[in-house]
Amino acid sequence: MNRAVFLDRDGVINAALHNPLEDRLDTPYRLEDFRLLSGVVQAVRAINEMGFLAVVVSNQPGVAKGKCDYAFLEAVDAELTARLARQGAHLDAIYYCLHHPDAIDESLRVDCDCRKPKPGLLLQAARELDIDLAGSFMLGDSPRDIEAGLAAGCQTILVDGHRSYFRLGEAARMRPHWTARNLPAAVEIVRCMQGGGPWRSS
Ligand SMILES: [Mg+2]
Ligand SMILES: [Zn+2]
Repeated sequence: MNRAVFLDRDGVINAALHNPLEDRLDTPYRLEDFRLLSGVVQAVRAINEMGFLAVVVSNQPGVAKGKCDYAFLEAVDAELTARLARQGAHLDAIYYCLHHPDAIDESLRVDCDCRKPKPGLLLQAARELDIDLAGSFMLGDSPRDIEAGLAAGCQTILVDGHRSYFRLGEAARMRPHWTARNLPAAVEIVRCMQGGGPWRSS
């Protein structure tokens, strides 16, 4: 079986942007705003070299909310893939939840099993890519990433670059296995822990 490092996207791989209308961090809606965070390419390459699958699992309700279209999501994927490839890094798969309970687009107004904090994206990836979830890691900057990772039975690392992202109630529910300042630091934790350790019951 494969082991994976599951990666949230916004706030982990690329910078999340402050949305002044909603006063929260949001995904970029223009390609020129899609900026990789420092050290991300090297961190993904390290995941590749350690033999883990690098799998993005991300809520992307922009289409559902009418804020972007499918072509934009594909353009972002192409841009991300190209920037990684230029320095010898790659993603093994990208899984998005496109649904949202308040979607304008009715076909996407679904109470789905894949919107994090639900673990559906990770479970789907595990089925399709033959992933051992207990030997895998979920890295994300939001409580819902950690909840999804825990629900899937993964080890979890909170990539905590944006403390303002958390409201107190959400933070209280969160029990990540580790916290790291950014993706490179989180991948170093994976490197240290990959051989197994006392926290593993199996
Ligand atoms: Mg995020
Ligand atoms: Zn979904």
